Amino acid sequence: MNYRAVEPTGEYVARLETGAEWRSEIESLAAEVEADAAWFTGLGAVSDAELWFYDQDGLEYAPVEFDEPLEVASCVGNVALLDGERFAHTHVVCSRPDGEAVAGHLNEATVFAGEIHMRAFEDPLERAHDETTDLDLWL
Ligand code: ZN
Repeated sequence: MNYRAVEPTGEYVARLETGAEWRSEIESLAAEVEADAAWFTGLGAVSDAELWFYDQDGLEYAPVEFDEPLEVASCVGNVALLDGERFAHTHVVCSRPDGEAVAGHLNEATVFAGEIHMRAFEDPLERAHDETTDLDLWL
């Protein structure tokens, strides 16, 4: 385990734009408030979603596409720098009309409505390739 203390610099709430891409909206918020490190939560609804599942044996993501309206029952993630760009690592639990849930690593989704709370931190977090997992993990 590696860890560090983080110094919060600000907290923000944002309403995501209908029709925009969910993760890009969060990255735009981070850019707007100049946060190179942040933690966020959110909720809302999307009109479609592409979630990724990481195959721990094959060491690759498999996409799962949902071309249907979904509630974003819960969204959680963080912002860090990946190759010098802000990347919002985003996970969601989404629900269908009957309450059934689908969940995973959110690659992209189209916002129907979304509300985000973001806490920004002073020092940047950076990701780099990790040999063992083949993922881009925090340094
Ligand atoms: Zn993930």
